[in-house]
Amino acid sequence: MTNANDPSLKSWVEVSPDSDFPIQNLPFGIFKTRYLSPVAGVAIGDYVLDLVYLHENGFLDGIGLPPGIFNQKYLNDFIAMGRKKTRDVRERISELLRHDNDELDRPAREIALIPMREVQMQMPLRVPNYTDFYSSEEHATNVGSMFRDPKNALLPNWKHLPVGYHGRASSIVVSGTPIIRPKGQIKLPDDEQPIFSASRKMDFELEVAFITCSETKLGQPVSVADAENHTFGFVLFNDWSARDIQQWEYVPLGPFLGKNFGSTISPWIVTLDALEPFRVDGPVQNPEVLPYLKSHGPKNFDIRLEVLLQPEGGDPVTISRSNFKYMYWNVNQQLAHHTINGCNLQVGDMYASGTISGPSPGSYGSMLELTWNGSKPMVLPDGTERQFINDNDTVILKGYCEMNGLRIGFGECRGKILPATV
Ligand code: CA
Repeated sequence: MTNANDPSLKSWVEVSPDSDFPIQNLPFGIFKTRYLSPVAGVAIGDYVLDLVYLHENGFLDGIGLPPGIFNQKYLNDFIAMGRKKTRDVRERISELLRHDNDELDRPAREIALIPMREVQMQMPLRVPNYTDFYSSEEHATNVGSMFRDPKNALLPNWKHLPVGYHGRASSIVVSGTPIIRPKGQIKLPDDEQPIFSASRKMDFELEVAFITCSETKLGQPVSVADAENHTFGFVLFNDWSARDIQQWEYVPLGPFLGKNFGSTISPWIVTLDALEPFRVDGPVQNPEVLPYLKSHGPKNFDIRLEVLLQPEGGDPVTISRSNFKYMYWNVNQQLAHHTINGCNLQVGDMYASGTISGPSPGSYGSMLELTWNGSKPMVLPDGTERQFINDNDTVILKGYCEMNGLRIGFGECRGKILPATV
């Protein structure tokens, strides 16, 4: 449907075969350098393409972009222009980067392309609202088995609606931002009363989040069929979780301080357009869902996911491999359910999938599951053990799609846990 996805395209920018950012990806982000305040850019190979330069020098003429649209610290105004216009921009950038296109001459290329190692990636969006779903059957089954009853691991509503809750938008941070271990109330198993302590069960959650690009009116639901017109793209999402704080506080209203101290996203927003070639069918939904949740065609995405843990001074170790395609509820169903009661969307809202666990232990998306709540500690190559995340450990999420020789990726979603403040 879009020329920019043609697997045969090549760019005059040299891109290594294992890069996340070939010409078929072209994700959007916000970056700054020592000399530039935050502006919009697109990733290509090991470079960032400066969109302000392209726009101000007439290379994006004819698309109908307002002046200054890229000279901003967030992408909200850009994505609010809608799917068609943002697609036109991606198509035009693809054209400019093609190996046989010389509209950007050598001096222009030298100004427009900035090596990634010289930029600092910023939060790409002002996020008005953040919702966290719970849409992986394997994850929900594991958690239900651990804390309730393996025979009735899924609660009765789970296969009838995409379970979710409203999270905290203010503490979503970009990859590379350290996270301070939270403190709060925890209740130790043998104690009657809670104590105040730094969390002893610090965890990550491997998730993918989608981002909406439109404002809707209160009282006007978005249908499953229309949902993609409101979806700009995706990022990797680490929903940091303090399991001990969570376990003591979460009944009856759900997660609160166990989750709202920080969530980390990858800086590049991979567009829904770029993910088109990687659509796959989701799991069969049985029992049949209510009519407002019926979904047709391949609406899941084959995104290979990986979690790495890096101890202080050590090498990163892969501790899990999963895939976004395992999601029981697809993003269109999530958005339709979210708005069926009349709840309105805003530009830049983030909707996380919920922890994405696969069917086998090596594909679990949290330490809670990987070590079965600490009962089966993980041994790292350096000989140390982990039940949960230690201070000064770094957790890195990675994700990429690969099919028929075409590979596009998300870059990294990285965060280091710092000791709790005294
Ligand atoms: Ca979560």
